Amino acid sequence: MPDDSANFETIVFLNGASAEPAPSAGAVKAFLAAHPQIEPDLCVIAVRKPSDADFLRSLLPQTPTRHFVATDFPQLETLLEIVAAKYRPTLAIFPPGLFGAEMAARSAARWRGTAVIGAASFERGEKISAQKSVYSQNLQAVFELTQAPFCLALAKEWLARREPPKVVPPLAAPESAASSAEEAFFSAPSENPPRLLAFELRERKKTSDLAEAKRLLIAGLGLEDKEGVALLSETAAALGCPWGVSRPVAMNAWADLDKLVGVSGAMTSPDWCLTVGVSGAAALLAGVESSRRLASVNTDPEAPIVARSDLAIVGEAKETLKELLLLLRQKNRPKS
Ligand SMILES: Cc1cc2nc3c(=O)[nH]c(=O)nc-3n(C[C@H](O)[C@H](O)[C@H](O)COP(=O)(O)OP(=O)(O)OC[C@H]3O[C@@H](n4cnc5c(N)ncnc54)[C@H](O)[C@@H]3O)c2cc1C
Repeated sequence: MPDDSANFETIVFLNGASAEPAPSAGAVKAFLAAHPQIEPDLCVIAVRKPSDADFLRSLLPQTPTRHFVATDFPQLETLLEIVAAKYRPTLAIFPPGLFGAEMAARSAARWRGTAVIGAASFERGEKISAQKSVYSQNLQAVFELTQAPFCLALAKEWLARREPPKVVPPLAAPESAASSAEEAFFSAPSENPPRLLAFELRERKKTSDLAEAKRLLIAGLGLEDKEGVALLSETAAALGCPWGVSRPVAMNAWADLDKLVGVSGAMTSPDWCLTVGVSGAAALLAGVESSRRLASVNTDPEAPIVARSDLAIVGEAKETLKELLLLLRQKNRPKS
């Protein structure tokens, strides 16, 4: 693979081999739209096979050059070897999520640069700085960056700020902008890099049903036990909608971890969301604040969630759910 690291100042990396490339591509586009001073000159896209480029093109940010790195056995080690050997940008932008965070941190280590995981913004003024949330989203911190390359893995909030992607079916004439980019295809070796002894691909259970949900119930610690969470899942079933949980509920194993909502889990933007026994800590709120309507059940009228709710029921969680379930069953009962 030719080394043309000198040519590219700002590079965007995307994982086109993931099950859902559109949200992260949309998040990167939203970030670039909000930072017009950043003009990436190259987009590097990992793909499973070269023909995937036909589908991906309409999702990609506009850059003068695109490199598609195809490997039928996508694993980070190989991609990192290629990226570290091939490129040496000043600024590298990675999408929100695990792929982005891992690539940013490990590329920065290889390039002896700086990584910022969860970057909300980037400024190149008198000083070069990046802003991100700290202390479980309770504070925003601005970090001065001195050691380039600067590797930014974007904050999850950019997923919620993304434009709905336009998917152009392969047969349709690609947009003029898409075809103006100079493109190159490389294939990555499918054997493991020397120091990687073993590798197993585990499909992560999608939490997308939460991220894409139009109506949502959230279980919090105020439900007190597994039975309380089971009552909420029954109510969700009667409403015909998915349900998620706060971190303590997942940590207590009252529900699967892939039900987690918030900065460490799914970011949602439903039409309406009902939280039950949830306090409204910033880390969870970040995952539901894009709801069009937010409702809550909590015994504490001072709980932060109450102030953020369009409708707040100050009451006992299980009792309220039992009442709601009764009403739903009456409503769903077939008319005789
Ligand atoms: C780096 C980091 C990342 C994090 N990421 C996440 C994340 O992604 N998602 C997440 O959820 N958390 C996350 N957290 C944890 C987060 O800060 C909070 O601790 C958590 O969201 C609180 O969950 P909760 O509201 O269920 O519990 P609590 O804060 O304990 O609130 C329980 C609420 O239930 C009410 N209540 C109690 N009993 C009843 C009852 N019988 N009936 C009705 N109401 C009742 C109480 O008044 C209280 O308001 C993270 C923390 C850190 C440090």
